[in-house]
Amino acid sequence: GRPRHSSDLLTITRSMPPRAGKLRVAVLGAGAAGLCAARHLLSRPEAFYPPVVFEMADRVGGTWVYQECTGIYDNGWPIHSSMYRDLRTNLPKEVMMFPDFPFDPELPSFLSHQDVLQYLESYCHHQGITPHIKFDTMVEKVQPVTGMTGKRKITWEVTSCRASGGQQRDTFDSVFICNGHYSSPYIPSIPGLEHFKGLVLHSHSYRYPESFAGQSVVVLGAGPSGVDISVELAGVGAQVILSHRKPPSKCLLPTGLQEAPPIEKVLEDGNLQFSDGSLACPQVLLLCTGYRFSYPFLDTTSLGIQVEDHWVSPLYKFLLPPAFPTLFIVGICKVICPFLHFDCQIQFALAVLDGTVTLPSQGEMEEQIERETEQLREAGMELKHLLNMDSSQWDYYQTLASIAGFKPPLPVTKSLYEEVKRQRQKRSQQYRELNYRIVSDTQWELLEMQDSD
Ligand code: FAD
Repeated sequence: GRPRHSSDLLTITRSMPPRAGKLRVAVLGAGAAGLCAARHLLSRPEAFYPPVVFEMADRVGGTWVYQECTGIYDNGWPIHSSMYRDLRTNLPKEVMMFPDFPFDPELPSFLSHQDVLQYLESYCHHQGITPHIKFDTMVEKVQPVTGMTGKRKITWEVTSCRASGGQQRDTFDSVFICNGHYSSPYIPSIPGLEHFKGLVLHSHSYRYPESFAGQSVVVLGAGPSGVDISVELAGVGAQVILSHRKPPSKCLLPTGLQEAPPIEKVLEDGNLQFSDGSLACPQVLLLCTGYRFSYPFLDTTSLGIQVEDHWVSPLYKFLLPPAFPTLFIVGICKVICPFLHFDCQIQFALAVLDGTVTLPSQGEMEEQIERETEQLREAGMELKHLLNMDSSQWDYYQTLASIAGFKPPLPVTKSLYEEVKRQRQKRSQQYRELNYRIVSDTQWELLEMQDSD
């Protein structure tokens, strides 16, 4: 929140004007994306000052910092991570890694959240990022100001506040927004929900299954979390109905888990009615309905950016607003290899900032975005799926790499990603038991199955 006596607490730090060409960059967030931004900025001291990374938590890792408690921290700030206790990654470490920083080869392919957090901490340490992070510091506002050197030069004013109190303003030439997008629950509108008599919960606040043992639960949504959580709940003896709009699963479902079509409404007597007319009256309705984009620190209207629950536009190459091409909103795409994706986007962004890439004019960028969006809409894609990349991510990385002149991802990453996708569809419960090894830039191999007891 805002400090009570802002005149007492406000310190305005007007940084020194930059030396010719060298840029000051702020990074908002020290999750995987923010760390990756800091890593690349630090590797280019001739072009960039060391970045200032703002992180509201007291450690790095973002999503991968598991918090047993839910709701808000003692300091009143919201709990960021939606991680659940028993999560195992849905990508193997060989595909999930930053391309220049492999995971510990001793680890299995599919990891716990503790393994991933340790990896990110080690990345941060190894790349010398820690001294540049302002922990316990929440960014409240990021706004463009016209610089003194000329009307067209934009600088950014970042207003931040410390958990212990005190507000500060700093100015930068560029800002990387890396605040994550799995924190603000998306709650679908379900007609009559107010009549539901049981507990309504969003997966953001789900941690472990034991407290649901023996209960009846309807899980809404069959994305990665919905499927994982349904299986966890059935495993402790809950009676679970997984309600979703996808075709019925071809895999054998565990005992205690059945499927239903989407919820249509809640009747006045509290029953849930599914779209096939069937009814259920569970004790718990668990919404695994995903998350919405949220940028409370940006005045998006004045930046010309439209933010909807599942859509942010216009962003050239899903990254920068054409009207303000020194602002980078990293990682809004979904169904991707997140760490690799961040790495490509950030290398592209640095090439924009250092002049290696000459962007088309604002108008041309806007037109291109509109054209591409229209093509997808005409092909029948719903707005909420427009940012799902999946197999189209490989062309995207290739394009960024060839424009900006960096090395594109190795072919083996694509080939293993696509293989794991096939395995996931075929064996939704067992695919994480497989272990892979990268053999060359183009080849992976499946390791012998280990005996599990
Ligand atoms: P985050 O990790 O969310 O980091 C954002 C950071 O910004 C946080 O540290 C937060 O504290 C900080 N922040 C936010 N707002 C502010 C502010 N105003 N001021 C200062 N700091 C701020 N990906 C995979 O690759 N494999 C998986 O198996 C996988 N499983 C997942 C499971 C779950 C349950 C979830 C939720 C996500 C999963 N992901 C997975 C995706 C995961 O989100 C990405 O891997 C990645 O961690 C996202 O990184 P990020 O930096 O974009 O965001």
